[in-house]
Amino acid sequence: MRIMKLRLQADESIKCQRNIYEYVLGGEQDKSLLQIRLFEESTKRAAYTRQTEAAKEKGVSNCPLCAIGDNANKTRIYKFNEMDADHVTAWSKGGATSIENCEMLCKTHNRSKGNK
Ligand SMILES: [Zn+2]
Repeated sequence: MRIMKLRLQADESIKCQRNIYEYVLGGEQDKSLLQIRLFEESTKRAAYTRQTEAAKEKGVSNCPLCAIGDNANKTRIYKFNEMDADHVTAWSKGGATSIENCEMLCKTHNRSKGNK
């Protein structure tokens, strides 16, 4: 248990260091205690699928920012590995790392939104 705690404390993506002890004591069940900034692969995949299906139906890009822009990528469907997960409500402003708050953006737009 001590090793687990140290490993988590070394993880820079965990904002709430003081909750690590509670998380470990609770059998490592409640991940929301850790307020992890990085989306899990499964969350990203789910968000990607949801967005891509909706975008194809509308005939627009699956990057929501490309879709509203007036450019060559307006109708482009990006591959999963061409996109990055973004927090709809910024993580720094208390936005959760959850599927509801996850939006996939093309790498260009994700980068231009800055480090959140
Ligand atoms: Zn884009």
